[in-house]
Amino acid sequence: MTGVRGHYIDGAWTDPVGREVIAVDNPADGSMVGAVVAGDAGDVERAVTAARRAFNPWAARPMAERITFVEALAGGLERHRDRLAETLTAEMGAPIAFARTAQVGVAIGDLLHLIAAAKAHIDRESVSNSLVVTEPVGVVAAITPWNFPLHQIMLKIGAAMLAGCTTVLKPSEMAPLNAAIVGEILDEIALPAGVVSIVFGDGPRVGSSLVEHPDVDMVTFTGSRGVGEYIARAAAATIKKVALELGGKSAAVILDDAPVHDSVAGVLRSCFANTGQTCAALTRVLVPESLRDEWERAAVTEAARWQPGDPSASGTAMGPLASSLQRARVLTHMAAAQEDGARLLVGGPEPLNLPGAYVRPTIYSDVTPEMRIFHEEVFGPVLTITGYDVLEDAITLANNSIYGLSGGVWSADRRRALDVALRLRTGTVGINGAGLDVGAPFGGYKQSGLGREAGSRGFEEFLEVKAVMGAAELLDDGRAEKTRSVR
Ligand code: NAD
Repeated sequence: MTGVRGHYIDGAWTDPVGREVIAVDNPADGSMVGAVVAGDAGDVERAVTAARRAFNPWAARPMAERITFVEALAGGLERHRDRLAETLTAEMGAPIAFARTAQVGVAIGDLLHLIAAAKAHIDRESVSNSLVVTEPVGVVAAITPWNFPLHQIMLKIGAAMLAGCTTVLKPSEMAPLNAAIVGEILDEIALPAGVVSIVFGDGPRVGSSLVEHPDVDMVTFTGSRGVGEYIARAAAATIKKVALELGGKSAAVILDDAPVHDSVAGVLRSCFANTGQTCAALTRVLVPESLRDEWERAAVTEAARWQPGDPSASGTAMGPLASSLQRARVLTHMAAAQEDGARLLVGGPEPLNLPGAYVRPTIYSDVTPEMRIFHEEVFGPVLTITGYDVLEDAITLANNSIYGLSGGVWSADRRRALDVALRLRTGTVGINGAGLDVGAPFGGYKQSGLGREAGSRGFEEFLEVKAVMGAAELLDDGRAEKTRSVR
């Protein structure tokens, strides 16, 4: 076990001695892998005060200097890639190879794309009679979950740093040890005190103290729909800007000309990677009745490639769920599916002969919109199959959800697939298995959230816009119509 970590506030680590701690368990075997201090409203107060103090000087730095710090942060993640990956594997069960690439690698990619967006950003232009400029929002509270914890932290603190905001981060209490390494990297790169502070702790105490704090200007949150609703309501009391990345129940639409093997492999990869704990996972597949038998048979064969096992072993495709609590939630969803009459094709609630929070990769067929499993986010490796007769019905079924995070379309004809993609009410759609693109905007329609993360749109979430009326001709060089933020 590593030592107990204190908070990282105002550029220094707090002393954890004598304070309440949160133990972090390895979901593969229940052993304790570390612990962090449980913060309280007093810790939040100190961190927000530091962020407020750091704001003006940080915002006043030239963009080129802020970019240098974010480049150094990306370099730090690369330097610590192995340790970060091992930590993620130990605290939330991601298979080690996946942790190195999809967890840490994607987080580095997030920063590089955000840097490119910041470089291309036009921060002043003449519009009508006004000079229109962008400025940082201010002090940001960033609250993150445990499923892609490093990626979610980087999308938030990277964009905030580049925009000129200062941030108090509250990482998930279920997987906080990777965030402690982030604190070490911030220290290594000599980020000015208060630009990013990290307060560990739970949602009700630390998270809500941040959301309700009158000196926080913006809350950026990734997590469950229910907590997102609370945050939107609580932030309304002081009209804070809110960005929410919430849940999903994303559909894959298989067109009648789609190659069966490719579509099966792509859908199962999306649904089963990270043990199904991916907000944008394709968890409802809509298959034409003409292909249904063949598709089901191929899916059962393909599911065998996703055998759960020790996440620290290099060849493991699927680790345990991130916690025994998450396992209990997933089993409840499986029970509901079976009660509602879904037909189990493979997997199911039967325990595995493994010690940790493991479940079997599971596929149900004959799933209808009346069933709970059609609508409720499982956040585990559970796929549902629903047959359809005409394409119009598939589009209606895909859009039959309170969520609108992601989707997928498979067809031999990519233009046909695009026509369907454009009719899905979701923030992202992948054609023929195209996965997460961290250079493009990511976020949800409907109850999947507000705002966008990643790339230029994700960077712009952290900006205010000001029109200086009567100053249109006073652009910096007096001639150019637009200027870029790196001059
Ligand atoms: P969660 O909502 O329980 O927790 C997320 C974070 O919110 C944690 O840091 C938690 O401590 C904090 N929190 C909890 N209660 C709070 C409160 N009252 N006030 C302030 N903060 C509070 O979610 P989780 O279980 O960590 O993550 C799983 C959920 O996240 C799933 O629903 C998933 O779909 C969603 N998710 C969405 C995205 C996305 O980008 N759309 C990405 C990953 C996960």
